[in-house]
Amino acid sequence: MQTITILGATGSIGASTLDVLARHPDRYRVFALTAHSRVEELALQCERFRPEVAVVGSASSAKLLSDLLQGKGLNIQVEYGESALCAVASAPGCDAVMAAIVGAAGLAPTLAAARAGKKIMLANKEALVMSGRLFMDAIAESNATLLPIDSEHNAIFQCLPRDYGRSMPDHGIAKVLLTASGGPFRNRPIETLDAVTPEEAVAHPNWVMGRKISVDSATMMNKGLEVIEAHWLFGAPAADIEVVIHPQSVIHSMVSYIDGSVLAQLGNPDMRTPIAHALAYPERIASGVAPVDLALIGQLAFERPDLNRFPCLKLAYDALLAGGSAPAILNAANEVAVEAFLDRRIGFRMIDQLIARVMDRLPGTDVADIDDLLVQDRRARDMAHSFIQQGTS
Ligand code: NAD
Ligand code: MG
Repeated sequence: MQTITILGATGSIGASTLDVLARHPDRYRVFALTAHSRVEELALQCERFRPEVAVVGSASSAKLLSDLLQGKGLNIQVEYGESALCAVASAPGCDAVMAAIVGAAGLAPTLAAARAGKKIMLANKEALVMSGRLFMDAIAESNATLLPIDSEHNAIFQCLPRDYGRSMPDHGIAKVLLTASGGPFRNRPIETLDAVTPEEAVAHPNWVMGRKISVDSATMMNKGLEVIEAHWLFGAPAADIEVVIHPQSVIHSMVSYIDGSVLAQLGNPDMRTPIAHALAYPERIASGVAPVDLALIGQLAFERPDLNRFPCLKLAYDALLAGGSAPAILNAANEVAVEAFLDRRIGFRMIDQLIARVMDRLPGTDVADIDDLLVQDRRARDMAHSFIQQGTS
């Protein structure tokens, strides 16, 4: 029996994780569930999965959750705030952590799980993009297990040799090929992108996801973050990570070997497949996802990404090459820009412009530790906010 903490249980990944867990009550037990503000939803999840601990974002949410749970006659410990998130991610009572909080808010608890040597199922790509080497060092030092949930990285993981040691040349690997759907605006005339609404941007053609990652998919910053994520997970240099547009999202990514072989992982676009893979690894369990029907799909298409249309992808490669805190600065500026876009404070095309301005003003520097990193993260956020204010006042 494996005990699981789900950080971000009420989100899209959190809900998919619970769906898979519910299919295997003989293998998994929920240790803790966390949510930021959707307290009623969390109370329903608690009723169904009976965790030992539930964590929310504030004292008032904690009071509300306690009342709801008491009303249901449930005796579940309720906590709130970042230190409680770190505690449930590193508690002796939990074996594995699904890191599915969105954005930088997930960094501290994911890092706590890494330091405690847990099995970490990583959906929260922003945490790894921000902390890169520091995070990978924490994993190595504590002998934690890191399994990718992002469908592309999970696919690559499945196409790598079992004993892969984060060195491509040692295993005859030439490239990793990250597939990208191209999002909802792959074919929309570029001059009309300024008029894009948040509703249009979050309507992804193939995947149902949270709002932030959906906007990231529309700008292709999501793929940019994934390039940086692939660099850290697989020890792949930027030059050996290639992005291929594949609108059907059936091939989830590929590994290209020096003998000309390209290995791919295919499946329907449903996150329960990578979640089930990581939960059971190295075994396999049913996920509830229907097998892919290739004859029904008929054709798979591929094209190269257009960096004029998707400048965010280039900005992410630039940040990776710059190194140090540059990816954290890119991520921070992006989080502020996406939030402003979703709040209708800036237009769609302002997202990449804002990030470029912040990166221009704040070149990345070496980072000694997480506190150092958080200072730079804060600086980038403050600068992005002030650019938005200047632009809209
Ligand atoms: P979501 O918006 O649906 O859910 C986010 C979760 O994080 C919620 O449970 C929310 O309560 C919690 N949360 C938000 N802000 C918080 C804060 N400040 N403190 C604590 N908790 C907070 O997002 P999602 O689509 O499930 O994505 C989660 C992560 O997984 C993201 O990093 C995303 O990039 C990654 N991911 C998602 C998908 C997908 O298909 N949805 C695919 C690959 C990777
Ligand atoms: Mg992905």
